[in-house]
Amino acid sequence: MQIARLLQSQGFGSRKDCRLLVSAGLVTVHGSVIDNPTAEVDPAGLVFTVEGEEWAYHEKAYLMLYKPEGFECSRAPKHHPSVFNLLPPQLGERGVQTIGRLDHDTTGLILLSDDGQFIHVWSSGKKQTPKRYRVTLKHGHTPEMLAALRAGVELVDEPGELVAAMSVELIDTHTIWMTITQGKYHQVKRMVAAAGNRVEALHRDRIGGLNLPAVLEPGDWAWLTETHVAALA
Ligand code: URA
Repeated sequence: MQIARLLQSQGFGSRKDCRLLVSAGLVTVHGSVIDNPTAEVDPAGLVFTVEGEEWAYHEKAYLMLYKPEGFECSRAPKHHPSVFNLLPPQLGERGVQTIGRLDHDTTGLILLSDDGQFIHVWSSGKKQTPKRYRVTLKHGHTPEMLAALRAGVELVDEPGELVAAMSVELIDTHTIWMTITQGKYHQVKRMVAAAGNRVEALHRDRIGGLNLPAVLEPGDWAWLTETHVAALA
């Protein structure tokens, strides 16, 4: 692939921008400056630098982000900064989207990609992927509340359908783990409200078998490896 085209595919701007980056001597491949925009490079496993920053070629982008509090999962946020501000601009430029959404005040694991098929599969809800949340409650939990979450509650605005947690486990008097397989709007908050309590804080730590890695701090992101993707299923 021509180096300028490769850079464009990785989100470094228009073809013209990328040609200019190369001809200005700002791009290295395997440690050597390439200043011919039409030079052919093999993208497989390619590591390159642009203006001194190192990048690896990814045909498609598959990412995870530790979403901090106070960010919206939207490109056109209304009240808070966008999670896309937490990523290098190249990733936004190549059309990365979040897979599902977390509320602005929810923290934890969210996936992003620019692979339409991947986004569709993991956001459609058909897979019923379990998603685990640590839920901090306003009032201490009660046996009735826990039983209601496990048996299923009727959500306001969705009468006639019982929505149940896949599992509920106790952490302490005001904190529970709740795993759900659906992806309804504000689902955990609405389920907890329907069970007579209120969510004070919400953190997602697991999607399928993929845990939020302990090495990530709020605001950090990482490429998903094949092992991570396999763990999702
Ligand atoms: N359920 C909610 O209520 N909010 C989230 O952000 C995620 C799940």
